Amino acid sequence: MVKCKKCGTEAGAPLKTWVLAPKGRRPVTMGLYKCPACGAYFRAGVK
Ligand SMILES: [Zn+2]
Repeated sequence: MVKCKKCGTEAGAPLKTWVLAPKGRRPVTMGLYKCPACGAYFRAGVK
């Protein structure tokens, strides 16, 4: 579970996901999350 970087609340499902694929590296799925408690947006890797 992804937690808010500000307050530590679990953010649940991402608003949006996209694949980040740097050359020569393994692609990773990133997600945009919004904290339900403080409203902060943050990005984190999706497993
Ligand atoms: Zn928060």
